[in-house]
Amino acid sequence: MATLNGKVAIVTGASSGIGRAIAIRLAAEGASVVIADVLDRPVEGGICTTEAIGAAGDRCHFVKTDVSDANAVENTVRQAVERYGRLDVMVNNAAIYTSTGLIETTTADWKRVMAVNVEGVFLGCKSAVRQFLTQEPVGETRGRIINIASQHGMISCPGDIAYGVSKAAVEHLTRQVATEFAEQLIPCNAIAPGKILTGRTDIGIDPVLLAYARSRTPWPRLGRPEDIAGATLFLASDMASYITGATLLVDGGWMAR
Ligand code: NAD
Repeated sequence: MATLNGKVAIVTGASSGIGRAIAIRLAAEGASVVIADVLDRPVEGGICTTEAIGAAGDRCHFVKTDVSDANAVENTVRQAVERYGRLDVMVNNAAIYTSTGLIETTTADWKRVMAVNVEGVFLGCKSAVRQFLTQEPVGETRGRIINIASQHGMISCPGDIAYGVSKAAVEHLTRQVATEFAEQLIPCNAIAPGKILTGRTDIGIDPVLLAYARSRTPWPRLGRPEDIAGATLFLASDMASYITGATLLVDGGWMAR
C-alpha cells in the first residue's frame, strides 16, 4: 500500500521547484494534494503541477493562494476539507527573497519577505492546527506540519539579510508550534535544504553563488528537489513517530563542514 494512501495534504508554493517535487511525491504515495500558490505555472517553465500529477481520480487541485493573506490561507484549508474530507499534512514551502544586504534592503522589501516567509508560515500553521483540532487522531496524530526552512536560517545568508532572518524565524516558529500542540498530537517539524538546483535560470544559477555552494557542500553533487520531497514524505508519514520540533538538514553535509 502507498505510504500516504487516503491522506490529504496542502503544499504551498507547489507550482514550482521544491514545492512542486513535494506535491508530486506526496501524490505518488497516494495523498490527495492541494497546490496552494500565487501562480499555477512553474517559474522554471514546463507543465503545471496538477498536469504533472495527472488525472489520478480527483486527487490534485490548484487553489490560488497568497500565503501572506490570512483569508486566502483559511479559504485554502476550507476548500481542501470540503473537497477531500479532512487535512492530514500541511507543507509550508512558499518563500521569496530579495538578494540584497542590509543597506540595499528597503523597508518595503523587508516587510514583503517577512509577510511571505514568516507570516505565511505562521498563517499556514494556524489554519492547519485549527482544522487538526476539529479532527479525531488517526493513529498517533491529528495532522502533521512540515515547514521548509533553510541552512541559511542557521548561518548567515550571503547577500540576503531578510531571507536569512526569515528562515531563522521559520525554524523557531516550528519549535513554538511543536511544543504548544504536542499534547494534542500535532507534530510540527522543519526541513532545512542546502543548495537545491530547481531549474530556475535567474539567481538559481548565479555562477558566484553556485561556486560558493559547491565549495561548501561535501557531497559530490548539489541537491535536487526530489531530495527534499523524500524527506518531506518521511516527515509526513507514520514512519516519523516521536519526532516534533526538529529541523532536518537535507544539505549534502553543508552544515557539517
Ligand atoms: P521557487 O522560487 O522556485 O518557488 C517558490 C514558489 O512559491 C513559486 O511557485 C512561487 O509562485 C510561490 N510563491 C511565492 N510567493 C508566494 C505567495 N505569497 N503565496 C503562495 N505562493 C508563493 O523556490 P524553491 O527554490 O523551490 O524554494 C522552495 C522552498 O525551499 C522555499 O521555502 C525556500 O526558501 C527553500 N529553500 C530553497 C533552497 C534552494 O536552493 N532552492 C535552499 C534552501 C531553502
